[in-house]
Amino acid sequence: MPTNKTLDGRVAVITGASSGIGAATAEHLAELGASVALVARRADRLDELVARIGKNGGTAIAVAADVSDPAAVQAAADRVEAELGDADLLFNNAGVMLPAPIEDRATEQWQRQIDINISGLMYVIGAFVPQLVRAAGERGVADLINTSSIGAQSVFPNFAVYTGTKAYVTHMSRNLRAELGRKNVRVSALEPGLVTTELASHVTDDGALEWLDGARDSVEWLTPGDVARAVGYLAGLPARVNFQQLTLMPTGQV
Ligand code: NDP
Repeated sequence: MPTNKTLDGRVAVITGASSGIGAATAEHLAELGASVALVARRADRLDELVARIGKNGGTAIAVAADVSDPAAVQAAADRVEAELGDADLLFNNAGVMLPAPIEDRATEQWQRQIDINISGLMYVIGAFVPQLVRAAGERGVADLINTSSIGAQSVFPNFAVYTGTKAYVTHMSRNLRAELGRKNVRVSALEPGLVTTELASHVTDDGALEWLDGARDSVEWLTPGDVARAVGYLAGLPARVNFQQLTLMPTGQV
């Protein structure tokens, strides 16, 4: 357990906070001293996490919202501003992975991945950037950390749409950094390899399931806590340092 309150006084928003990487990051950032706003759809999970963080001495609020609904995302941003003040750390992390052979024409799954991983990610950026810019002006620095994936760089059969959404996240982040850096808002793309979370539990494609099972047997996957530590590290860097892209792989993953 970390004891250094390197993020004391910071206000962090974490999307996808109801499970996996987002939940672990919310707990870690709270341990580092940040007040955290937890965004996801499953309100019961968020309430449990708020209670746990509170019990450990942290400050957290639950803000149930669907990131693919721009009005809900704006309402979430307004609540954060009213209850915690301007956010100066946005971990934009909600996402889904629904691989399928392209010839299956799984258009509903294509659309869901695009709606959440791309449109949702952008709605969150749009709603919170005013707060990040204001906070950076007042406090000297703010962070926007987008969860991409090793899929943004690598090639996996049946994952074309998912990896395409993540390539979008990485390239968009690089461009946004050039725009927001001069306003003291750092932008980073975080690209994990395999992490043990609920992400694969939504996968229905046999080929992808077989590949994931094989990888589970042959490689020790990252834990959500490993990724959480990377987020804490990025946000704790001196204001002049922007780690623009961080690829975090299990040691044994090719
Ligand atoms: P989980 O499935 O455990 O977490 C996904 C989170 O996203 C949940 O909290 C879920 O909450 C939230 N979410 C999904 N849809 C929406 C929505 N419409 N609105 C709001 N929140 C939503 O998986 P991970 O922790 O692994 O995933 C987090 C991120 O990490 C994703 O972007 C994923 O692509 C990325 N990633 C994961 C890797 C891995 O191996 N696990 C590797 C590389 C990247 P709820 O259902 O309650 O809304």
